[in-house]
Amino acid sequence: MSDVDLLVIGGGIAGAGVALEAARRGISVMLVEARDFAWGSSSRSSKLVHGGLRYLREGAIGLTRESVRERGRLLQDAPGLVEPQRFLLGHYEGGKLGRGTMATGLALYDALAGQRTRAFHTPGQVRQLAPHVATDGLLGASSYLDAKTDDARLVMRVLQEAQLHGARVVNRAAVKSLLRAGDVDTPLSSLSAEGGASVAPGTVVGARIEGAGFTGHVRARCVVNATGFWADGLRRGLGAPLLRPLRGSHLVLPLWRLPIAQSVSLLHPRDGRPVFATPWEGVALVGTTDLDHHDDPDVEPAITAAETAYLIEAMRHAFPRLDLRASDALCSFAGVRPVVDDRAEGGDPSKAPREHVVRVEQGLVTITGGKLTTFRVNALDALRHAAPWLAAPGRRNGFAPTVVAGDEPGSDAHARMSADDFHYRRADPIFAPQPEPAASVALPHGLRTRLLGRHGHRAAALLAEAAPADLELIAGTATPWAELHWALRHEQVRFLDDLLLRRTRLGLLLPDGAAALLPRLEPVAREALGWSVGEWRDQCERYARIIAQCYSVPTP
Ligand SMILES: Cc1cc2nc3c(=O)[nH]c(=O)nc-3n(C[C@H](O)[C@H](O)[C@H](O)COP(=O)(O)OP(=O)(O)OC[C@H]3O[C@@H](n4cnc5c(N)ncnc54)[C@H](O)[C@@H]3O)c2cc1C
Repeated sequence: MSDVDLLVIGGGIAGAGVALEAARRGISVMLVEARDFAWGSSSRSSKLVHGGLRYLREGAIGLTRESVRERGRLLQDAPGLVEPQRFLLGHYEGGKLGRGTMATGLALYDALAGQRTRAFHTPGQVRQLAPHVATDGLLGASSYLDAKTDDARLVMRVLQEAQLHGARVVNRAAVKSLLRAGDVDTPLSSLSAEGGASVAPGTVVGARIEGAGFTGHVRARCVVNATGFWADGLRRGLGAPLLRPLRGSHLVLPLWRLPIAQSVSLLHPRDGRPVFATPWEGVALVGTTDLDHHDDPDVEPAITAAETAYLIEAMRHAFPRLDLRASDALCSFAGVRPVVDDRAEGGDPSKAPREHVVRVEQGLVTITGGKLTTFRVNALDALRHAAPWLAAPGRRNGFAPTVVAGDEPGSDAHARMSADDFHYRRADPIFAPQPEPAASVALPHGLRTRLLGRHGHRAAALLAEAAPADLELIAGTATPWAELHWALRHEQVRFLDDLLLRRTRLGLLLPDGAAALLPRLEPVAREALGWSVGEWRDQCERYARIIAQCYSVPTP
């Protein structure tokens, strides 16, 4: 049995953010992830760190303001991981989005961010910026700056930062059930709370965890449920379901087939929904769909043939001369948005709110919904709700999970944290500045920035371990072999898909899930993870199955 102040369930961006903001305030934190860090929607997003221009159209000014502020902070703190990206939106004769409407929206967008990035481009300029876009009836284009990231690496960077502040993060360890005070079969009968108060029966006081990384019971003063799309499962018996799961799917095309230097946004010719193509890591991402997702939550989501046809239709409309087809795509990926929507299903999914929600039920703090971009704001909100259950570091008096009557925190307020301890200050850095790493060979500027952005304070150790040959880039990508080796040794990789789909994104960037790399990878992976020849073969088979079932491109 372990005792911690805060147990965080879920290793996506929400859980990682909560773990970091708690750990940097001296709270003892344990985070557990059932599948793999960032396995959920946090590795399957559109990779945009954005204000969400379309949310502005829906009147969500608060969400947009928060998002553009956090975008600015992330760009400043994590260059190499979060990079600026220009978006271009064409105006056409008879089109729904006119130059005037767009100019008003962009002026507000810029004002919220406190910087001017908007521009208008004549048809001649558009032909230079995006040579392949449709030119029939083209009146010009508006453009603005947002940002993009590698979402799974952002989660890893936040988790690393949390570990730097003392958090314990455990991969492949699932919460199987919550421990409730008074349960006959929980080993909690000895619990007594600080000041002699008793823990109210039914209060969540920890969890039973099973996995490769940790098996046992964990008692906690407070438990945060950051399980995204799975959040309602853990809340069963505590409150009514919150979530309307919405699937969003993407196609990945080689840049030579869809050559873009800017992101190109458009309204889908069929239903007027916004869709986009964006350059990312040397490929073009095309997204996204927005559909009610009814599949088993334990089955990895995948694009359907109908979604593929929908996205290709949009691209053929935007880039008519390229004659794009589903067979041009390298791969696909799909994620499920944990959208909190109390309207009946059947409402337009794209209009469902994207704000995060925090619920406190019998001591369990659930944080779900929301965007990758605003993870810090969301985490601080969750912690403000958790504060009354958390003992202030340095003011502790032994361990007691919670002191509650119903959902109310206990009376020994002097020993507790308060919402003010988790106040959002825009100017606070998200990541601590890192020392410049020394390298045995001179590193090109781009590679140095990339390693610092993605690996933060660990970049120095990664470079110290890397042989000069490991700094060679894997052909067709910006990933050096050194990142693969580092992940195998230090980033709790258990399966090949952890390595090729999330620690690195090679499985999305190269044909057949990067199968051509496997022979060179085999000796390094087997040495680092102790896999026998048979285990390596099993890993390869498992990986090929996942790629075929969930990342391939069904032909319509
Ligand atoms: C298609 C799509 C596009 C998006 N695009 C963007 C974008 O461009 N920009 C943006 O800002 N946001 C975007 N989002 C939103 C953003 O990706 C999500 O809101 C965010 O990733 C949610 O993070 P999370 O940590 O709440 O959930 P998740 O990332 O899903 O993490 C939850 C984790 O909990 C784990 N878990 C579940 N049950 C248990 C258990 N019992 N024990 C332990 N662990 C458990 C899961 O394995 C999972 O890893 C997009 C989302 C989708 C789906």
